[in-house]
Amino acid sequence: MELLEERIQSDGKVAPGNVLKVDSFLNHQMDPQLFNEMAKEWYRLFGHKKINKILTIESSGIGMASLAGLYFNVPVIFAKKSKSINIEGEVYKAEVESFTHKNTNTVIVSKDFINDGDRVLLIDDFLAEGSAMLGLIQICQEAGAEIEGIGIAIEKGFQKGGERLRERNLPLRSLAIVESMDPETGTVYFRENDITPVD
Ligand code: 5GP
Repeated sequence: MELLEERIQSDGKVAPGNVLKVDSFLNHQMDPQLFNEMAKEWYRLFGHKKINKILTIESSGIGMASLAGLYFNVPVIFAKKSKSINIEGEVYKAEVESFTHKNTNTVIVSKDFINDGDRVLLIDDFLAEGSAMLGLIQICQEAGAEIEGIGIAIEKGFQKGGERLRERNLPLRSLAIVESMDPETGTVYFRENDITPVD
């Protein structure tokens, strides 16, 4: 998605440890107009799939997933990062390793909100090693929900997440795929991405 690539190029910062900082429009300050364009693009890619729920993970996925929820006209659920499992009722759980924080979180989703037969679109801001997405996939599988699409804003193509999901034939589309980043100059190089609606 050209608009997103341009924005990453102009406002993104290449940080040590292969981290791309996009705090000024995505991870801290948010640009709702950009999120709206991203949501429209996800609707173009997945809108024909009879999706009835969107699932994301706190916290950075929530803003963009909410905008997508308006186009798909479906509820948006976010997996909560929980230290103590004291949320009421029964929950699905998955272990998610954080690439940026270098720790492991248990993420939970109440069994009230994902059910057998649901047709789910997963959304997140970044795809790096794939731990966050694999956690959400595990939760959907446990619930008996179908994964109809995986919409990522920024995939870091030099990490393993994209490969892990594609080799399982999951319907993944990333709006921008970073091929490499030069920490010296701050230049971000993009890979061509698949912009066709999923099958
Ligand atoms: P994964 O689970 O695929 O390894 O990492 C995805 C999660 O880590 C995302 O939810 C995102 O919050 C965070 N993340 C991974 N890489 C980056 C990065 O380069 N920049 C930022 N801002 N977040 C990242």
